[in-house]
Parts: sequence; C-alpha cells; structure tokens
Amino acid sequence: MIMKQTTLAAVLCSFVFSTQAQQLYVPRNVQEAYKKETRSPDGKPGKNYWQNTADYTIAVKLSPPSRTITGTETIVYTNNSPNPLQNIIMKLILNIHAPGAARQGAASADYLTKGIIIDKYSENGTEKKLRDANGNTSLRVPLTKPLASKASITLSFEWHYDVSKESGREGMLDSTSFFLAYFYPRISVHDDINGWDRMVFTDAQEFYNDFNNYNLSITVPKNYLVWATGELQNAGEVLQPSFVSKFEASKTSDKTINVVTLTDLNAKNVTTQNETNTWKWKAQNISDMAACVSDHYVWDAASVVVDNKTGRRSSVQAAYQDKSVNFKRSVEYSHHALDWLSNNWPGVPYPFPASTVVEGFADMEYPMMANDSHQEEADFQRFVAEHEIAHTWFPFYMGINEHRYGFMDEGWTTAFEYLIGVNDMGEEKATGFFKQFRVTNWVMDANEEHQIPIITPTNVLSGVGLGDNEYGKPALAYLGLKDMLGDELFRKCLHGFMDRWHGKHPIPWDMFNSFTNLAGKDLSWYWQNWFFTNYYPDIAVKDLVQTKNGYNLTIQNIGGFAVPTNLVIEYADGSKASIHQTAGIWEKDQKQAVVAIATGKKIQYLKLDNGIFMDADPSNNSWGKSATPEFNAASVKPEDLDKFLGEYVSDKLPVKISFSKEGNILVADVTGQGKVNLVQTGANTFEYTAAGALFEFTAGKNEFVLTQGGGKFTFTKK
Ligand SMILES: [Zn+2]
Repeated sequence: MIMKQTTLAAVLCSFVFSTQAQQLYVPRNVQEAYKKETRSPDGKPGKNYWQNTADYTIAVKLSPPSRTITGTETIVYTNNSPNPLQNIIMKLILNIHAPGAARQGAASADYLTKGIIIDKYSENGTEKKLRDANGNTSLRVPLTKPLASKASITLSFEWHYDVSKESGREGMLDSTSFFLAYFYPRISVHDDINGWDRMVFTDAQEFYNDFNNYNLSITVPKNYLVWATGELQNAGEVLQPSFVSKFEASKTSDKTINVVTLTDLNAKNVTTQNETNTWKWKAQNISDMAACVSDHYVWDAASVVVDNKTGRRSSVQAAYQDKSVNFKRSVEYSHHALDWLSNNWPGVPYPFPASTVVEGFADMEYPMMANDSHQEEADFQRFVAEHEIAHTWFPFYMGINEHRYGFMDEGWTTAFEYLIGVNDMGEEKATGFFKQFRVTNWVMDANEEHQIPIITPTNVLSGVGLGDNEYGKPALAYLGLKDMLGDELFRKCLHGFMDRWHGKHPIPWDMFNSFTNLAGKDLSWYWQNWFFTNYYPDIAVKDLVQTKNGYNLTIQNIGGFAVPTNLVIEYADGSKASIHQTAGIWEKDQKQAVVAIATGKKIQYLKLDNGIFMDADPSNNSWGKSATPEFNAASVKPEDLDKFLGEYVSDKLPVKISFSKEGNILVADVTGQGKVNLVQTGANTFEYTAAGALFEFTAGKNEFVLTQGGGKFTFTKK
C-alpha cells in the first residue's frame, strides 16, 4: 500500500514535468557529434558526416566433407575520418567457436572449433607478424605508420578455419552442405560516435558493418553448387549449358523454375566436370557476404519486379533438401515478400539484385541471403522467410548498428512482419500470431527485466530484456506511431528518414529527430514515452459520465505506454460499436485521457480492447455489464474439469501431455518438462502464456489442439 502511494507521488511529479515540452535524453557522444557537425539535431547527416569503406577481394576453397575452409583476401581500406588511424580493428567473429570465448549461452562439443587461424598477414605488401587473437572476436592490428585522413591502405590475409559440426548462425548443415557466414577477417566499423567498434561478439549482436564492394570466389569440387550474396559472374564456366539456360530464364520468369532437381543431382552432371570449379560472385556497396555450398541441395529460382517505376527485377532463389515439402514453395514466398515489402511497407523497392533462402537451422538474415530452418507448417515457413527478407531494409539497406541499437533492426523488421502478416493471414490470425510471439511473454509477466527502457544499449542486455527490447516493444512503438500519424504522414516520415540515411549509419537520435522534423510536429513526447521509460501497456476505465452530447470516458494509464485502444461499446438498444483511439490521446497528459463519445444512445457496457498492444491487467478495462458476458474463470467448478483429465498423445510431436486438476485449475504435465498450471480462457480453452501455448479441447471428443510456435498439433486421449 505504502509502495503504491510512493509510486503515485513519483508519477504525479513526472506528470508535472511531462506537460512541458519534452527534451529527449541525448548522450554525450551524440552531443559531440552535433558539435562536430557529423550529425545534425534535425535528424539529417551533418555536413561533416563521414564513413569508411573498403574493397574486398576474397578467395576461399573447400572440399566437403573436409570441414576445413582456407581463404586469402586483399582489403583496400579508405580512411574517410578526419583523423589518422594508428591501428585497425579486425573482426574475427568465428572465434565465437573457440573454447573459452565469451558467449551468451553454453556451447556443445560439436559447436567448438579452434576458431579462425590467421596464417599470413601483410600491410601494403610487407609481411608482418600478428599477435594471437586468443579467441577474441576483435583483434587490434597496429599499423607501421598511421593511416592518414583520406588515405588508403592494402591489407592481405591468409587464414583457415573448420566449420563447426553443430550449426549456429553458420556451420555444417550436413556432411556435404555448409553455410559460410562471418567467414573472412573483416575490418570493424570506425565511426563518428564511438570510434572503433570493439564490441565482443557473444552471439547476440548480429551486424555492424561498413558498406563495401566485394569480389568473392569460392572453389569447390565438381558437382557442388554454390549460392552467395551478390550476383554470380560466371554461370557459364561452372554449370553445364542446360542449367545455365534454366538459370538465365529464371531472371525474367515470375513462375518458379526448378533449375536443378534431385534427378539432375543424382546424374552428377550439373556442374562443369573439372576437378574443381571456382564460382565467382560480385556485390557492390553491401555490408557483408554469406554463402552456401552443397552437393545435394536442389535449386529453384524465379524473379520479381521490385520497382514498378523502372521495371527492375530481382532474382529470388532457394536451395534446400528435396524432401523439405514447404521449401518447395520458398521461391513463391520470396517472390511475394519482395513484391509486398517493396510496394507496401516499408514501401521502398527491394534494393538488391537477388535474394536466396537456403535450408539450414538459424532463421537468420544476411545481405541477399537467409538461412532458414525447415518448418512443418506452411504458414510458419512463409512467416520466417518474410521476417528474414524484411531485414533487407533494416539493418542492411540502412546500415544499422545492431551492436548497440537492435531495436532499429529487429524492431522495424518485426513491425513489417506484422503488416505483411495481416495481408497474408487476415487481421485476426496475424494479430493472434503477433500477440503470441511478440507481446504476451513480456506484457503478462511482472519481471522487471521486461521494463528496462528500449534505448538501453543492446550489448549491455541479456535474457528476456534483450528479446523484448529488440522485437516486441519497439515494433509496437513503430506500429503505434503509424496508427497515430496515419499512413500518409507516417510514410512521409519513414521514407524521409530512409532516404536521408540508407547506405549510412543512422543512430536512434537520427531516427527520432528525422521523424519529428519530417512530421512537422514534435514527436519527442512519444519517443520519450516508448523508448526512455520503464513503462508497459496497462490502461483502465476510470469512469464514464453522461454529458449533453453523449459520454465522457476517463481512461487511466497505469502502465504508462502510450497505447492506442478500441472502445468496444454495447448500447442498451442491443446495437454495438467499436471506436478507435490512437496513442494521440496521451499527448497532453500521459496519465489520464478523457475521450468524448458523441451518441444519443444509452451505453450499457464498454470495454477497452488494445488489440496487439494488449493490457497487463484487463480486469479493469470495462464499465457496465455485457449482455453476452465473457468467460469467467473464477466460476469454474472442479468437476467441470473432469472431462479434460487423462493422458494425451500426438502423432506429430514426441511428447505425452497428462492433465490433472488442483481445485478448479487444470494442470498440464508435459513429458520431461514438469507440471504447469494452465489459465482457463473459455469453457474449453486454456493457455500457458510463458510458453505461448494454447490448448483447445473439442467438445464431445477426447482430443485437443495445441497451438504453439506457429504449429497446430492434435492430441488424442490414450
Ligand atoms: Zn530478425
């Protein structure tokens, strides 16, 4: 009780201040960037904005099932910063596999390797000794003489590493299929905000890369196919003519072409029959390269117009095991994703010439590539593909620093994932999906880690706080902003921001200030509310009073987040209405909003439904009595549960689920996972929110459907 009063007093204080024009917290390094005019307080790049760049020429060789990859590269690196560089920081991300490397999670013996071993290094043609990285993912390389501003330097490396048996973001997919990512020594980003990026890669911070040009060649034995970031330069050298023709035909075909089938692979005459073939790839102004190599993955391809103004097409390809049923539709899914995302949200034409999805384990994006796992459910296969492809814009096109600001990458991608999901599955299903995957776990859990402000640098987070702050919370913030500004103004702001910063390295303040600048109104209060506070979604009906023109509804904001809501109304005459309120209702007063409802009718019942924004405590979201009351779990009698009790099995999942009861609570016991109490949400429905699991019993039948992880599984009583 006392705690509550203290909180209320604190809230009142912050309310008094919040009515004045809100100033966003600006960190000291960002203030310095404004002084140096590398960035501008109106959100634009400053007149002194700079970033560094390099040309990479990389050649790697591999011969599966040998796990060893050998590589050579030459990097021509240009220092565009105003200061000379004494050192270069190299990124050796594959050292995440080295025993003793710092990691966010445990590593199995099959994940461990010796890391990446540099065999030779030279600076401007002179061989030099490098110190051992000692399992670190960053290595400082002192230069013989400082690299002056505007000058270039040539660094050469020879290296080798073993792909890990257990695949993470990269590694062995099977004994003769490898996914290569982070596979070459890369120069870290040196920027105007923090200087060199020395962030330790602990397997959470995915990308912060400069925009470079790449020439990549991959040498593999005959009968191996290669897919990689960029465009294949020498199809005629590495493929037999009939396969070159099919691949070329795909570049103007909307329909999927099976470039290489299982029958073709079994005939062992798809590639040129040299001992080895060198596949050459080129990609310009891009942040990274990834590749997949296999002797038994089939290959589909088509292409799609991504820019209606110019008619520019992008290639869409897939490489997978023939037995993966849902991957057979992968090119069709990618075709749809590139088309929809280019023309709707973000509504900027897909910026690259190709997009290839390969079957792996990571559900992980790379520029022009995705490594996606096989899914049993077609909807979920498409959902994962769309999410990874949506990453094209954030972080790759936009050059986001995910090491610190994951919410500018995953957050935007998760917002686009919802919007394309509504198009694909309809609003109801997409909303259910989104709540289940992106919102329920943090809104319905009181753990304070969920309430760490989104602006917290990603690298200092772990656990649930990391996941919430990268995905669900910022996605809701962006979607709430879209709802509040309306699509036209929101599009103007989003496109204006993207136009200013694509191919560069925007930070959150560039985004916040660009939106305010482009919207022509101060949105600081909204950014402050969502990104700089410990808030969560929880609103309540305070009162509903009759006025001359209808009613005044007072809504109290308990959790603090500026959420939109729907007023779901039942009138005394039996008619119903739903009135939408955007987050704009919280602009003047973030603790309490008064909404005027103009009506001549008498309201019998009113409920606040926040949709995907949810509500931590829906019990105080209504007024009056509904003519069709919702299910009340408290009224369940223990004997009502008897019909559900017993042991259930599914032919799709290798688990048994037994139900018992404790009083009027149904308890599920999943083999190997222990007992959990379920929350009853309807006469025959239960959920276990921590795992995003829904249990729906079919009345009169001894079975239930489990919905979890995008899959639906029927269980029958033994
Ligand atoms: Zn993602």
